[in-house]
Amino acid sequence: MKKLVLASNNLGKLREFSALLAPLRLEVLSQSALGIPETDEPHVTFVENALAKARHCANLSGLPALADDSGLCVTALYGAPGVFSARYAGEPKSDARNNDKLLADMRGKTDRRAHYVCVLVLCRFADDPQPIIAEGEWHGEIMDAPRGSGGFGYDPLFRVPELGCASAELSAEEKNARSHRGIALRRLIEQLGKDS
Ligand code: IMP
Repeated sequence: MKKLVLASNNLGKLREFSALLAPLRLEVLSQSALGIPETDEPHVTFVENALAKARHCANLSGLPALADDSGLCVTALYGAPGVFSARYAGEPKSDARNNDKLLADMRGKTDRRAHYVCVLVLCRFADDPQPIIAEGEWHGEIMDAPRGSGGFGYDPLFRVPELGCASAELSAEEKNARSHRGIALRRLIEQLGKDS
C-alpha cells in the first residue's frame, strides 16, 4: 500500500478520498497526522491554490500529496464568488450568510447561469515538475429562493436543470454521480491508472 498525504484536515474529505483511492492501493493520510501546518491560499484561481497546497505537503512530507480547491462561479457576477466561495460574506465563514449575500447580489439579474468548479492537484514527489491536474465542472442556475436540506454551501440555491430540483434535494450518491468533485476525482483516477 503506497502512502499519500491529503492537503486538508477536513475529515469528510479524508473519508471520501480514502474510499475512492483504496482500490488503487493508496493509503490516504491527513496533513495534521504528519504535523504539517496549513498553508495560505492567496491566489485568484482554483488551480494555483490547489497547487500551492499540494506542493507544500509534498515538500514537507516527502510523500505524494493531493489537494483540492473548489467553489461556485456565477456568470452574471463575472465568476464570483469563485475562490472566495467559502468566505463570500466575510469572516467567520457561514453558508447561511453566503447564501443570503448571493441572493441579494442576484436580485434583478436575468442571467442565472452558474457552475461549480473543483480542481484536484497531485504532486507525486517534492518539487514535481509535472503534477497531475484534474478538473470538474457542474453547470446549473441560481434560484431566487432556497430549496432542500442536503449537501452544504450553496446547494440550496443551485438548480440542476436536467432534474428540475436544487442540488440540496439530491442524495449523496446522486450528487457524487454528477458533481464537479465526482467528475474531477474520476478524471484523476483515470490519469493515475495511466501513470502506474
Ligand atoms: P473548499 O474547496 O472545501 O474550500 O470549498 C469552497 C467553498 O465552495 C465551500 O465552502 C462552498 O461554499 C463552495 N462549494 C464547493 N463545493 C460545493 C458543493 O458541492 N456544494 C455547495 N457549495 C460548494
